[in-house]
Parts: sequence; structure tokens; C-alpha cells
Amino acid sequence: MSLVSVRDVHKYFGDLHVLKGIDLDIKAGEVVSIIGRSGSGKSTLLRCMNGLESYDQGAIILDGMEVSTDEFQVRKLSQSVGMVFQSFNLFPHLTVGENIMLAPTLIKKTSKAEAKKLAQEVLEKVGLGDKFGQYPEKLSGGQQQRVAIARSLAMKPKVLLCDEITSALDPELVGDVLKVLEQLAAEGMTLVLVTHEMNFARDVGDRVVFMHQGKVHETGDAKTVLADPQTPELRQFIGAVL
Ligand code: ADP
Ligand code: MG
Repeated sequence: MSLVSVRDVHKYFGDLHVLKGIDLDIKAGEVVSIIGRSGSGKSTLLRCMNGLESYDQGAIILDGMEVSTDEFQVRKLSQSVGMVFQSFNLFPHLTVGENIMLAPTLIKKTSKAEAKKLAQEVLEKVGLGDKFGQYPEKLSGGQQQRVAIARSLAMKPKVLLCDEITSALDPELVGDVLKVLEQLAAEGMTLVLVTHEMNFARDVGDRVVFMHQGKVHETGDAKTVLADPQTPELRQFIGAVL
């Protein structure tokens, strides 16, 4: 059975038909890279998958729950799905540790002591065990992004959605963030990544989904699809990003 099942999902922004019947199944432990040109609907699809954005037709089932933007449902969903953004979105007035403790204490009602222990654990996982008491502004972009990943992990999600999480980083900081993702993948975490990192998609990812004009234009095994694209659109896209 799929952990995430997207069935004929359509999304409009006013007259703009942004998702035109998306079908996608993601199994537990799979690493799926979503690629495609700017404006093809990648972020919108990811946002629909965790209830940040409504959709107009079709269904998304995640961990047995129908995804909707209903407040109660989004809270429930937040225990199964985590999302990391290009802009890290850490709270600047809270320390790294406090940022991570926030969701477990507020949403899961985890005790403060337990949340603190959990925060330390996830910080160590992303290689930042010594940053608990730091404020985000004292950290590099790559470190802040790893804190954002740790913050998601603290909710023990079954699937982690990442929307271009290395795109805003200086090139020398990208590797550390990708290493964390690679480690999570090796541990069996289900990852759905919108990314331009084709090497990562090929070497770490299981599957590639190429979106074009609001549709899944081509999809399949990552190595096969990237080495031997079947459509001119994907050939052109790969040529442009490599
Ligand atoms: P991608 O992530 O692939 O670059 P997006 O999902 O962000 O694409 O956007 C797909 C299309 O939807 C684009 O044409 C974009 O301008 C439009 N769009 C995205 N978000 C909104 C919004 N909140 N309101 C109106 N149009 C939007
Ligand atoms: Mg986007």
C-alpha cells in the first residue's frame, strides 16, 4: 500500500489551471525527486500534500488520512508529514532548541523535558549537537537549514517534503544539507524532494517525477529516467540544468 496516494488532483488559482490531474503513489521508504521548470506546479503539489494549499478536484491520501486544509485535519496531518522550505522559516526570537521543541510541545503535548531530549537527539542527527542554545542568526544558512530539518524530524514524520531546500544556500554549504538527506534516506525515511540537484536525484533518489505544465510528464526509476529521457521536454530540461 502507498504511504502517499495522489489521485487525479486538479488545482486552480483563479483561471490558472496549475495542477492538471496529478496521479502519484509513494511507498514508505521511497525517495522521490520532483523536477521540472519553474512554474510547472512542483511547489503547489507539495503544498497540497500537507494541507498548506487546497485542491479543487481529486484526492490525496497520506498515511490513511484524506489531506485537506481543514484546521483540525492539518494538525493531525502534521504528525505524519513534515515540510522544509527553501527559506528556513526558523523563529528568530527563539533558540535553536526552542524552535525544535515548539511543535512537539504544542501539537503533541510532549512534556518539556521530553521535548528537550528529543530536540537534542534530532540536532545530533543533523550534526549540530552543540547548537541547542544558539539563536538562528548566529548560524550559517546551511546550519539553519539543518535545524529546519531537525525541527521537522522532531515530529517523527512518516514522510518529509522538501521544497528546493538547498537552492538558497551558498554552493559550499549545499553538501552538508544533502548529506543529512542522504543519511535520512539510508535510514528508510520517505522523502519527496523538489530539487535541481540532479546528481542527488540520480545517486540517492529512487524515482524521478518530471513535471511539465501542471502534469506528470515523465516518471520512472531515477537512473533510467535521467540517463535516457523519453520526451523532448525532459531532454531539454536536463540539458538546461546540467
Ligand atoms: P514551481 O514550484 O514548479 O515553480 P508553483 O507551484 O510555485 O511552480 O507555481 C505554479 C503556477 O502557479 C505558477 O504559474 C505560479 O505563478 C502559480 N501560483 C503559485 N502560487 C500561486 C498563488 N498563491 N496565487 C496565484 N498563482 C500562484
Ligand atoms: Mg517551487
